[in-house]
Amino acid sequence: MNQANSFNDIILPESMKKTYKCDFCEKTLPKRFFVHKNIGQEVPEHRFCSRECKTNWCSDLSKKA
Ligand SMILES: [Zn+2]
Repeated sequence: MNQANSFNDIILPESMKKTYKCDFCEKTLPKRFFVHKNIGQEVPEHRFCSRECKTNWCSDLSKKA
């Protein structure tokens, strides 16, 4: 009877819907972006729109620590 409902079960994973933003300035990332990987951190991967943002983010982090 409600065969059409089965199509509602197809849901895209959250990661496919979401566009990534720069972790420093929160601009949407360009096609080429910088990644900072730090395994062992709570968030192992951070993305940045530019090298400057990555550098600034890193120095911000060391100030907080
Ligand atoms: Zn940025």
